[in-house]
Amino acid sequence: MDGALIGGLVGAVGAATVLLLFAMSRKPVNCPSCGREQPKMRTPSNMQQAMWGGYTCEGCGADLDARGRLRVKKGGK
Ligand SMILES: [Zn+2]
Repeated sequence: MDGALIGGLVGAVGAATVLLLFAMSRKPVNCPSCGREQPKMRTPSNMQQAMWGGYTCEGCGADLDARGRLRVKKGGK
């Protein structure tokens, strides 16, 4: 292995570790609509959730952002 490859590997592992710690230290999110706690391990239900995080409430189906706030659907009028 050369130095650049090892450096890249260390960087990737470090970034993954930081992301993992960030995800694990996150407080549980409660639905503001029905109060149900959302699971930490979520399955994105659409591209927006996959990109930015967020939840679809298991209790009432509300669309929440990554911080657990109700996401206002645009263009719904
Ligand atoms: Zn809910």
